[in-house]
Amino acid sequence: MSFSVTRSISFCYGHRLLDYAGKCRFLHGHNGLIEVTVKKRRLDRLGMVMDFSEIKTKIQRWVDAELDHRMILNERDPLIPELKRRGEPYVALKANPTAENIARLIFDHAKSEGLPVSSIRLWETPSSAAVYEE
Ligand SMILES: [Zn+2]
Repeated sequence: MSFSVTRSISFCYGHRLLDYAGKCRFLHGHNGLIEVTVKKRRLDRLGMVMDFSEIKTKIQRWVDAELDHRMILNERDPLIPELKRRGEPYVALKANPTAENIARLIFDHAKSEGLPVSSIRLWETPSSAAVYEE
């Protein structure tokens, strides 16, 4: 038995997938929606798993500062040297920046903030989502 709460956070990002035959191999962007779910066996003295504002403070600020309006790219992407040269912000992942891997990136950050996160769901479009959970 456990309780969980979910907070939604939206952000915009660009990406492309390397070694991929479909149209996601071209640079394009998404209005992504992250669902951060935290889970606990017991509620606190206020009857909460966690204050929604604590999730906002720990995750949304980081998303706004590090991911929002960034290109999220595979570290092997040949575009990176050009972005670097122009001083454009980007995020480099060790793997393709799929919704799955971006969900994992956010999950790892939530863990590092000490949140009892149980899953991160990233809606890449209103009809397609990926989940990373322990
Ligand atoms: Zn995409």
